[in-house]
Amino acid sequence: MRLETLAIHGGGLVDPATGAVAPPIHTATTFERDADGGTSRGYSYIREANPTRNALEQLLANLESGAECAAFGSGLGAGAAVLQTLSPGDHVVAPDDVYYGMRMLLDQVYTAWGLMITYADLYEPGVLESALRPETRLVWIETPSNPMLRVTDIRRAVDAAHSAGAVCVCDNTFATPALQRPLDLGADAVMHSTTKWIGGHSDVQGGAVITRTSGDFSERLRTVQHLSGAVPSPFDCWLVMRGARTLPCRAQWSCSSSAKIAAFLKDHPRVEAVHYPGLAEHPGHNLAAEQMSDFGGVVSFQVTGGEDAAAAATANARLFTRATSLGGVESLIEHRAAVEGPDSRAPRDLIRLSIGLEHPDDLIADLAQALDRATR
Ligand SMILES: *Cc1c(COP(=O)(O)O)cnc(C)c1O
Repeated sequence: MRLETLAIHGGGLVDPATGAVAPPIHTATTFERDADGGTSRGYSYIREANPTRNALEQLLANLESGAECAAFGSGLGAGAAVLQTLSPGDHVVAPDDVYYGMRMLLDQVYTAWGLMITYADLYEPGVLESALRPETRLVWIETPSNPMLRVTDIRRAVDAAHSAGAVCVCDNTFATPALQRPLDLGADAVMHSTTKWIGGHSDVQGGAVITRTSGDFSERLRTVQHLSGAVPSPFDCWLVMRGARTLPCRAQWSCSSSAKIAAFLKDHPRVEAVHYPGLAEHPGHNLAAEQMSDFGGVVSFQVTGGEDAAAAATANARLFTRATSLGGVESLIEHRAAVEGPDSRAPRDLIRLSIGLEHPDDLIADLAQALDRATR
């Protein structure tokens, strides 16, 4: 089945018990045992497994062509679970512009826990290879990256990780399985903040890790999921599933609008630089064209006039909502450095857009008036 079909049918559509066409939400925390104490129906206690979470995990595993999926209550919960499969003294390589929440998690929690971390410019060929050590166990990649939309060569990162005996995990939140398939390129696992494009409606938080194969790594993840307990509620699982069904269609519309918006911004006199891998002049364009089927729904750009102009343009938006996050049906605008705070590595004059499902001409008209009034 192709992705559009899998998104509808990949989680089991019709409830076998009742024929219901929408999946039920199972809220039970505990499940009846057999007379002999067995669990022949597959369930015993909600933290370990429940039917709604299983349906979501099956759907996400299918969408990424993975063997197994473990769902979590947030993207960072999923990221933390990957880190919890490691042991103190293990070495991790991550991009120097890794999602800032992941960087804070690594620095403020997992450094104290004994992980050794190297941040490196993984977009430059050869840099990852020289960052590897005998004790490297995890190479974390994120492509396209947030908020600069830089592109990592997934296959090359996988080869480097494997040659060092490490696993390679790809944060696929920005691209989603609709546009990029890291497991097909050899990655050991894909991580998602399902809060973003997969959930798709800015009304549920979630995360997931999907592994390419079943084995030691997926078993360890499952153990962490069961014991750390950062699991999503049945209702949250249901909302993520509901969103995932329309992911391929939403992705297509957002990509097409993003290309138009990037082209508009590129020619705008008050825009200094546009960061969108779909633009031919983007440094990662050729690589993105190879490993992605389209270029995504996030566009960043830098304005002339510096930080004040970026803040003013953001303030002037009328149709774009001023909010962080991405991947919802409504388009969002943010002055990224202000959102990330004093430790932000984002350029001070950078604005990040998440392109939703409004008509692109309306979005372009809003950006035109916001930029015009910001720099007059
Ligand atoms: C939002 C985000 C996360 C964290 O996900 P939460 O659901 O907010 O915990 C991780 N990686 C990327 C790329 C994100 O955009």
